[in-house]
Amino acid sequence: MSESMRQLLAGELAALDEQGLLKDERVLDSPQGAEITVGGRPVLNFCANNYLGLASDPRVVEAARRTLDAWGYGLASVRFICGTTTLHEQLERELADFVGAEDAILYAACFDANGGVFEPLLGKDSAIVTDQLNHASIIDGVRLAKARRYIYAHGDVDSLAEKLEEARGARFRLIVTDGVFSMDGDLAPLPAIYELARAHEATVLVDDCHATGFVGPDGRGTHDHYGLMDHVDLITTTLGKALGGGLGGATCGPREVVAWLRQKSRPYLFSNSLPPVVCGATLEVLRILREDPTPRRRLAANQRRMRQGLVDLGFDVDPGDHPIMAVHLRRFEDDAVLAQRMSRDLLAAGIYCIGFSFPVVPRGLARIRLQASAAHTEAQIDRMLEAFATVGRRLGVIGTG
Ligand SMILES: *Cc1c(COP(=O)(O)O)cnc(C)c1O
Repeated sequence: MSESMRQLLAGELAALDEQGLLKDERVLDSPQGAEITVGGRPVLNFCANNYLGLASDPRVVEAARRTLDAWGYGLASVRFICGTTTLHEQLERELADFVGAEDAILYAACFDANGGVFEPLLGKDSAIVTDQLNHASIIDGVRLAKARRYIYAHGDVDSLAEKLEEARGARFRLIVTDGVFSMDGDLAPLPAIYELARAHEATVLVDDCHATGFVGPDGRGTHDHYGLMDHVDLITTTLGKALGGGLGGATCGPREVVAWLRQKSRPYLFSNSLPPVVCGATLEVLRILREDPTPRRRLAANQRRMRQGLVDLGFDVDPGDHPIMAVHLRRFEDDAVLAQRMSRDLLAAGIYCIGFSFPVVPRGLARIRLQASAAHTEAQIDRMLEAFATVGRRLGVIGTG
């Protein structure tokens, strides 16, 4: 190991630490759930992507156990050599059916799905038109493609129209957006995006990681929310959030696209097959979603109770009905410091949630981000609200009335 590189890294790490930008990992010593133990202390967890509370659901754990017994642990192969089982094929069919697409292709993660979707489909004569706040995996995936890149202002349909116009000469144009954006829980304006796409003969790719399983009347995703179930072009999504929270991703879309990706998509071709246990557990999740509306209903009710409770206490929370909610500190001069102090005091009060500040969000827009889960009980939500009231008053974020 180069000694100068080690020294350089040590210096850079120290600099990050000084700027308060070093991410230190809190270590759980319990399974994922509404209540977790962190360093031996029980806390209520409001920062997991465990939207439907299925991460430790006994039905899912039991399905995983059954699959483990029947199929063993690993496949020790990529899909096209000897790593495709009937479980993989069934999961691809059922996932495609769930989101309303013709077919689906599994990846080790949605990061890989996004890393492997652009390059095989869009050559240098084509164009990708991408929302400014899209997920890091989209940014990286777009970089791997030879297509020209156009970035439109976040959620801004006029800016998108302009960029589509600029990209007019391109052979194929692909618009790509997160369905739901993770910092604010805001939804992409899909009706307007699809309208523009149709007018410009462009294709739309929606990354629905923060939507698949629970957004929309049947939980099928952002397009379901807008009543656009017949408008699916391409969807990428994850098995690592609402759908059990294990690991895995998928690209869903027309048969020819999926067939082509199986031939050409590098993270699919050159990376290992999903373990059968993940497929078996996710199939159980999809069965639960088809037959049991309870997790979705509880999530919706919990989300409303949290948001309304925070608003009633006087916190600055955007309206909406997604389980991601930002408690803004934008009215305060020292918003970044306040966000750090508030999340630390909340943790001391037994509530685990994260404060985000620059550079994760724009300067002056620091916030505490909360995520509702179907796993929370009403009593747990009320405990969270009490802690927010106490800490918020102490720090002067809300009035003492
Ligand atoms: C979480 C997330 C991903 C990555 O998903 P993994 O399956 O964890 O790799 C990609 N895109 C978006 C929008 C996400 O929120």
